[in-house]
Amino acid sequence: MRALTYQGPYRVQVEQKPDPRIEHPQDVVLKVTRAAICGSDLHLLHGLVPDTRVGCTFGHEFTGVVEEVGKEVSQLKKGDRVVVPFNISCGTCFYCQRGLTGNCENSNPGSDVASGVYGYSHTTGGFDGGQAEYVRVPFADVGPMKIPDDMDDESVLFLSDILPTGYQAAEMGEIKGGETVVVFGAGPVGLFAMKSAWLMGAGRVVTVDHVPYRLEFARKFANVETVNFKEVGDIVLHLKELFDGRGPDVCIDAVGMEAEGSRAHRVLGLGLKLEAGAPTVIEWCINSVRKGGNVSIIGVYGPPWNFVPIGTAMNKGLTLRMNQANTRRYMPHLLEHIQKGRIDAKSIITHRFPLEQAPDAYHLFAQKQDGCVKCVLMPHG
Ligand code: NAD
Ligand code: ZN
Ligand code: ZN
Repeated sequence: MRALTYQGPYRVQVEQKPDPRIEHPQDVVLKVTRAAICGSDLHLLHGLVPDTRVGCTFGHEFTGVVEEVGKEVSQLKKGDRVVVPFNISCGTCFYCQRGLTGNCENSNPGSDVASGVYGYSHTTGGFDGGQAEYVRVPFADVGPMKIPDDMDDESVLFLSDILPTGYQAAEMGEIKGGETVVVFGAGPVGLFAMKSAWLMGAGRVVTVDHVPYRLEFARKFANVETVNFKEVGDIVLHLKELFDGRGPDVCIDAVGMEAEGSRAHRVLGLGLKLEAGAPTVIEWCINSVRKGGNVSIIGVYGPPWNFVPIGTAMNKGLTLRMNQANTRRYMPHLLEHIQKGRIDAKSIITHRFPLEQAPDAYHLFAQKQDGCVKCVLMPHG
């Protein structure tokens, strides 16, 4: 089959690989119908995720049709259309029983930190991803959700990750009604965090980014106020002034590592050079949120970014929450929001490509060009 694989920092290619097969009786193999590219894939592309091996197939946001079924699978049969959560979970361990499927301890047994994730390095189990013609899905009775007959794959594709992720970002901000919320990052995850903040009853939602077309997209898609941090000087002071001199109740980091304007910078051809200091957006969140406020970190960080201004957070009495999204627990509820027309998830797709053009899609999405908000690959047309 054809698959998009890692070739070293900044290099991906589409190549021939063996078809995946059933390796465990609880597996299924899917014929992939749609596979999206995520901001998290850019961290892989940029060589920032430890133990990303050459030849690994990327892709953790996908839908597909069941092609082969393992002997112990009871919930799925050949021909079923499914959407699959990005984190692989066993359904029975300590964490899965508590709904913390993003922390499953059986899907990546060698790690005490990360659960298994499709197409996301050997740090998360070394599973091949779905930016390919076919993909193996372990614990197939647990993760995949059947797509209702009257819905097309693209309508539910983002239940695999960014919609539940944005929703969890808002939930970790503990939005109950009337709160003021700032979302850093107007990418796909940020957009769904904004939508979710409104659904949870936020009183005011502002997003901060520096890419003008993304800010414009956010105004239309999520009906939010926008701030271009490159135009306002000191962003922390600006946000304090915008919210009664105190700052907002909730700050959400939907950017993660490699934030524009950070102390980390690129050394020509050698990747990132890190300087001591907190990750930019976490620091902006902690400094601009009001005392006693909530900071929700859904942007992804790897080990090199372990500096956080904990003294300021302590003295301001902040609540900090963060995690990989526990995607599976939110899927049924968010499917209902899509079905009732409260969230038009598909409408953030700006570009579609055949699998063969996946490297171009990565380039476009990474460079934030041509109005690109979300790229979707179509491995079988
Ligand atoms: P994206 O790259 O499309 O969007 C990031 C946005 O942040 C861009 O629009 C960029 O211009 C903006 N940005 C850059 N620097 C900024 C700064 N200093 N201040 C404000 N905005 C800034 O990515 P995405 O797909 O929206 O993903 C966002 C983050 O969420 C990534 O770190 C991704 O890895 C993470 N993520 C986490 C989970 C999880 O489970 N925790 C799941 C999916 C994605
Ligand atoms: Zn993703
Ligand atoms: Zn588990």
